[in-house]
Amino acid sequence: PFGYVGIESVLDQMRRKAMKTGFEFNIMVVGQSGLGKSTLVNTLFKSRVSRKSCQSNYEEKISKTVNLMSVSHIIEEKGVKMKLTVIDTPGFGDQINNENCWDPIIKYINEQYEKYLKEELNINRKKKIPDSRIHCCIYFVPPTGHWLRPLDVEFMKRLGKIVSIVPVIAKADTLTLEERQEFKYQIRQDLQAHGIRVYPHKEFDEDAEDRILNDKIREKIPFAVVGTDREHQVNGNKVLGRKTKWGIIEVENVAHCEFANLRDLLIRSHLQDLKDVTHNIHYECYRVRRLNESNM
Ligand code: GDP
Ligand code: MG
Repeated sequence: PFGYVGIESVLDQMRRKAMKTGFEFNIMVVGQSGLGKSTLVNTLFKSRVSRKSCQSNYEEKISKTVNLMSVSHIIEEKGVKMKLTVIDTPGFGDQINNENCWDPIIKYINEQYEKYLKEELNINRKKKIPDSRIHCCIYFVPPTGHWLRPLDVEFMKRLGKIVSIVPVIAKADTLTLEERQEFKYQIRQDLQAHGIRVYPHKEFDEDAEDRILNDKIREKIPFAVVGTDREHQVNGNKVLGRKTKWGIIEVENVAHCEFANLRDLLIRSHLQDLKDVTHNIHYECYRVRRLNESNM
């Protein structure tokens, strides 16, 4: 029996279109220097983002990041190509005075909106506008175990207004499981007290199903992550891990840390939603503001 519309055929068309055009997804890592941002980017590409392990052109030895730097990989699955780009940023907090240390990051994010807007307004508009907009910003909180520092509060306040942020507890292997739980709770309180909006936002849950799924994520935020640039042997298998005095922390094992939860949120369960929120909320805000101020 066939339906009236032939949804199967519509889905097929969408698939074919996706196969032809592919899509872009851009993540940015932000936080004080030394918190493991570059290491986590490396871990992300080394972990199972794709069945076929993608070859890495990323620096094997991680050196100090001095400039905004982007790393891209084309990931192909079932004929659909995704260009995953991670923007690594130099850490801040090295200066005695950290005032306005967010400026270069905010500027970069806005510049990508501006580029997109220029393309949209172009008379000879491209069929497909290259998308360098940041779909998600991972903010690294230092594992102090206490509360958010004023610097992190100020930074996230500004970021949260222009981009989707997912906060993480950096180097979570330096905290016990109990300490992580307490710290998470404290951070969530702080975020709320300061009116900092992190992804996924409650008010954008579309239905009860969304809410149940997203509540589970919100309970875990900020994810306690561990990054590594090494593989270790565990029970005869090679796993991405980090040696600590308690043994090897398996980075992709959800009993050990929440790296896999973060990865799955970003590039599996919420990828399309992050793209939609970026386009419909953050970019739209930017666009309206720009058109108002310039009467372009
Ligand atoms: P970035 O400045 O934020 O980019 O930090 P890096 O990735 O350069 O890492 C700084 C140092 O922290 C390096 O010595 C890393 O090996 C170490 N490191 C990175 N991730 C972790 C982690 O999850 N746990 C621990 N204990 N150390 C880490
Ligand atoms: Mg770095």
